[in-house]
Amino acid sequence: MEARRDTYRKLLWAEREAIHGLLKRNARFGLLSRAGETELSQYDNHPADTAGDLFEREKDVALMNDAFEQLSEIDAALERLNRGRYGLCEACGRPIDPKRLLVVPTARRCIQCQSEFDDARKADEAARGRTTRPAEEDVIGGLRPAREDRLRGEPGVDGEDVWQMLEHYGSSDTPDSIEPKM
Ligand SMILES: [Zn+2]
Repeated sequence: MEARRDTYRKLLWAEREAIHGLLKRNARFGLLSRAGETELSQYDNHPADTAGDLFEREKDVALMNDAFEQLSEIDAALERLNRGRYGLCEACGRPIDPKRLLVVPTARRCIQCQSEFDDARKADEAARGRTTRPAEEDVIGGLRPAREDRLRGEPGVDGEDVWQMLEHYGSSDTPDSIEPKM
């Protein structure tokens, strides 16, 4: 078992390194460069370009959130290794198939319990009227209650609110697009 634990530990560390590398690259070339880009590109800031940029940035943020979530799963798995609890299903307590652990070293549950867990979560989301939504909606999550508010006949978030939420990403009202006062 000690040899096998070593294998899992190495797998987990390799995954950890890969995600760290991804986050570093993303920070350098993704979010940061795009944040600087808007300053230069406001010159011909067509609303469609802004929407495209915004979508790209939301995608980056969603990816970053995913990466952080994976990191915490990896750390939790390493913690289980240290406490000698690694590879035991959190639900039924039986050992998780080593073949599964080699593919998904962060697995918390055996195959059967995981599929029951996933089914239960899907049923729960369906019961709350939520299907699987695009990841971007986690970033612009403020819009979701709005739709539910409207269904209940409450005003919720209107176009004006959305504009205020998005405006700080940059608008087309740069000095260039304001007519000169003569
Ligand atoms: Zn199980």
